[in-house]
Amino acid sequence: MTQDIQVLLAPEQANDERQIRSSLEKATGLNAKRIKGYEILRQSIDARGRAVRIQLLVRVYIDETPPIAEAFDPRLQSVHNKASVVIVGAGPAGLFAALRLISLGIKPIVIERGKDVRSRRRDLAAMNKNGIVNPESNYCFGEGGAGTYSDGKLYTRSTKRGDVKRILNLFVHFGAERNILIEAHPHIGTNKLPQIITAMREQIVACGGEVLFETKLTDILLDGDAIKGIQTQDGSIIGCTKLILATGHSARDIFELLDRKNILIEAKPFALGVRIEHPQALIDSIQYSCSYRGEYLPPAAYSLVSQENGRGVFSFCMCPGGIIAPAGTAPGELVVNGWSPSKRNNPYANSGTVVAVDERDFAQYGFSGRLAGMHFQQMVEQHCFAAGGGNLVAPAQRMVDFVNGKTSSTLPGCSYIPGLNSVPLRECLPAIVADTLRKGVQSFGKKMKGYYTNEAVLVATESRTSSPVRIPRDKVRLEHPQIRGLYPCAEGAGYAGGIVSAAIDGERCAEMAAGME
Ligand SMILES: Cc1cc2nc3c(=O)[nH]c(=O)nc-3n(C[C@H](O)[C@H](O)[C@H](O)COP(=O)(O)OP(=O)(O)OC[C@H]3O[C@@H](n4cnc5c(N)ncnc54)[C@H](O)[C@@H]3O)c2cc1C
Repeated sequence: MTQDIQVLLAPEQANDERQIRSSLEKATGLNAKRIKGYEILRQSIDARGRAVRIQLLVRVYIDETPPIAEAFDPRLQSVHNKASVVIVGAGPAGLFAALRLISLGIKPIVIERGKDVRSRRRDLAAMNKNGIVNPESNYCFGEGGAGTYSDGKLYTRSTKRGDVKRILNLFVHFGAERNILIEAHPHIGTNKLPQIITAMREQIVACGGEVLFETKLTDILLDGDAIKGIQTQDGSIIGCTKLILATGHSARDIFELLDRKNILIEAKPFALGVRIEHPQALIDSIQYSCSYRGEYLPPAAYSLVSQENGRGVFSFCMCPGGIIAPAGTAPGELVVNGWSPSKRNNPYANSGTVVAVDERDFAQYGFSGRLAGMHFQQMVEQHCFAAGGGNLVAPAQRMVDFVNGKTSSTLPGCSYIPGLNSVPLRECLPAIVADTLRKGVQSFGKKMKGYYTNEAVLVATESRTSSPVRIPRDKVRLEHPQIRGLYPCAEGAGYAGGIVSAAIDGERCAEMAAGME
């Protein structure tokens, strides 16, 4: 017999098997001999009370031995000499699409403009140390896509638990720790993601798929209204009738190509703002109501949202113990994002803090048409680059100074390696964004006492939160309404936001391209 029960334990107890057992005996009223084993199904932190507790959902095995856990079977098979589907982009969507195609007996041919994980690392170092941006290899482009050098947070708003579980199981299959299967807020960490991504690619190739790096899609070839192939930057042509386009939200040349070819795309609202960094110890003390977090609790996170000026302002992609990174994809643009290592042991906590923007804002700056949002986004990134003074130095301002319209005379220490320049941020952000952020951080300060402080620094600009363009598709078949065989996929097409939802969408597009309706 099994029984699922919830127990609330002090952090040190939740790390001690004997304490967990004794809490289960107490909760079930059974003596130790009858409890043959237990399995933790879910683990979360409850920081609502004075003392922080770990909440465990546990399956208790009463008078029966727990079964041996079955290994997850990704059902991969040889696809040498099988019919193929071309996937453009080796981000989470492209890689999970490739694995799904293999499981369905179809050979994926993945083309990726960037480099493999290892070679890519050198280009990231050049960005951080010398402010040099390689437009083909950076934090967004290269093997694993924008997900490789990210925080690797694996939570999603997707409600399809079955799909989420399968994605997490695949991550574990390729080397992630099993903990991600039970934690309420699982994350992998930048130091561990590259090996996992490499293992996925090696498996794709071992099954007979192809992964071609430094191979950029430059044209889509059509036969009437149907896909007949693609052209790459050296003029090579790869013939195909099914094309999964998973190029991410930063592939501006892809949006321009679709626009030039009159393939239907639409401007899409997105969100834009800054990354805010606090000392991690301060966030810990606020969230855990203590002066010292201790060794059993993870660095604390937060999630904040408010309505100001009739629009949403919200924290986004919070990285406890993290680093702010330069995430632009072209010279002359300044974009920031955040990541953290698996231990989240850096002294700072950062999060994107962004304001929803839409056609009204694009029009105010003279942008119209299908690429209006993209041009607006690019304009802000260029303003921020200029305000920083070049070399990817970012414009920044202390939080209270920003609200009071005062230039910061000094800036606090910050994890952003290329460096900061003290600049009044309202000079480089659109006025409505600056004003909404100004109200937003004050309102966040009321919700989370201690958040609103001059110890926090705002770094501009967080602009690549989601795609500024949507590529339409049929709701069921996921095919472009105008072009047969074209499957607009994941974040770049406007159907995903984050690693897990991109992976789920990659799998769905693979199923449709394979004819599984
Ligand atoms: C620093 C950072 C931290 C992040 N942290 C998290 C996090 O913790 N959790 C989370 O869920 N999300 C995070 N994200 C967002 C997440 O990485 C993305 O949501 C996700 O990667 C989107 O997946 P995708 O496959 O749709 O696109 P992408 O990952 O953007 O992949 C698209 C791929 O297509 C390639 N490509 C583009 N154009 C072409 C072309 N013309 N030819 C060939 N290839 C092309 C690109 O090089 C890229 O590799 C982070 C992003 C960044 C940048």
